[in-house]
Amino acid sequence: MGIHDDVAHTSLDFDPHFIIEPENVVRAMFYGLGADGTVGANKNSIKIIGEETDSHVQGYFVYDSKKSGSQTVSHLRFGPEPIRSAYLIQSANFIGCHQFNFLEKTDVLQHAAPGCVFLLNSPFGPDEVWSRLPTRAQKQIIEKKMRFFTIDAYHVARENGMGSRINTIMQTCFFAISGVLPRDEAVAQIKKAIEKTYGRKGEEVVRKNFEAVDQTLAHLREVQIPASVNGVALPPIISPKAPEFLQKVTAQMMAGLGDTLPVSAMPVDGTYPSGTTKWEKRNISQEIPVWMPDICTQCGMCALVCPHSVIRAKIYTEKDAADAPATFKSAPLRGKDVPEGTRYALQVFAEDCTGCALCVSVCPVKHKEKAGLRAINMEDKAPILDGEIANIEFYEKLAGAIPATVDYTMAKDMQYLDPLFEFFWRMRRVWRNAVYQNCQPDVRRSDAGRECHRLLLNLWREPSDHAVVEKCGRTRAGVVELAF
Ligand code: SF4
Ligand code: SF4
Repeated sequence: MGIHDDVAHTSLDFDPHFIIEPENVVRAMFYGLGADGTVGANKNSIKIIGEETDSHVQGYFVYDSKKSGSQTVSHLRFGPEPIRSAYLIQSANFIGCHQFNFLEKTDVLQHAAPGCVFLLNSPFGPDEVWSRLPTRAQKQIIEKKMRFFTIDAYHVARENGMGSRINTIMQTCFFAISGVLPRDEAVAQIKKAIEKTYGRKGEEVVRKNFEAVDQTLAHLREVQIPASVNGVALPPIISPKAPEFLQKVTAQMMAGLGDTLPVSAMPVDGTYPSGTTKWEKRNISQEIPVWMPDICTQCGMCALVCPHSVIRAKIYTEKDAADAPATFKSAPLRGKDVPEGTRYALQVFAEDCTGCALCVSVCPVKHKEKAGLRAINMEDKAPILDGEIANIEFYEKLAGAIPATVDYTMAKDMQYLDPLFEFFWRMRRVWRNAVYQNCQPDVRRSDAGRECHRLLLNLWREPSDHAVVEKCGRTRAGVVELAF
């Protein structure tokens, strides 16, 4: 049972719609973003219900190897009898989706039971959200006679100084809607869990979480469901320009349907294509860096420090950019003896950014008139995304013109090299292993900049992250330094 083995024929057929779960079991699924706190909040919910009620509880948590920034699915069951369902939920009577864009890539409502309650974190209000849903989701909501609730959890989090931490907000919504506990009791128990979980982080963190919980119920809305659909078409999971293997196999995995792939879909000799991360546009960040070419010194620090190679720089000649989109940014290349008409462009690969803001914190240029701004700053992604996609397409085709003065052993010129690692977890692992665990505290110190630079330069050059980690040693300052 399970993976369909159409090669050695060792699997049995089964009916995925055969459900034997009793109706008195609450079966809740939560789609969250790795590291957004959804899994932690759900573990707290299990503790609250398990300890404060007579219900029996169960939780399964599914997440992929990318962990932070990837999709997590929590499967929670609560019921009056002991729960012995040793499998994931196939028929949910509550579904929480903590990221709006999951609806485009994943069939979030495929496991919704008739009459299921659907809770969506949406940047669109209750009057607008329906027309923003994919048609597929609208049809499921109507056909299964679901109830639909929405909240702009990121707005509530920002208002209460919690940045993008929406876990307790969505947890409060779950308790408010599901009725597993009386609402007041649920709020009191959530606050108790907050104190227990975040108490060691200080009173301020606890207070912000309390305020967010109190604000949540005022922002939670039920959506009136129309009788007809008027939704948006689903975009392709992966670009039609991607290689065939990615279209057939990787796209299924990205849609959360990896378990439905038959054994024959796997390469027969076990080799697996590499360099595929550029096709997975995860769009996990609400904010991306925006460059200010007029004040940028072109030092390349932002490109160098980005753990995912999301920022790229190119030197080109003016005549090659005659058909640049109106939103494409560039500046005359700085430096001595620069030929006339030579320009510099810094491009953010918007859909691959994780929103970590390391690039902003490392930028040495402070805006003279606008306090707090640097030569690169985080801004809302939604209004500028379409323009950035056009810019990236143009940037990728733009012929580079590297002057003879460029020296790749200099930190500022490393930005013009193509990165050996790009996008999500591989580069991330290098960063985490070699930088985060060893020298992150020192990176925050201004005098650690040189050492950090040396490390990052070598990560950029190094074809194997294992080799990088093995070469790591510690300087007296406690900063990782690599053997050249
Ligand atoms: S925010 Fe983080 S991931 Fe995005 S470009 Fe900056 S450093 Fe890279
Ligand atoms: S770190 Fe700042 S000054 Fe340096 S290239 Fe990036 S945006 Fe420009």
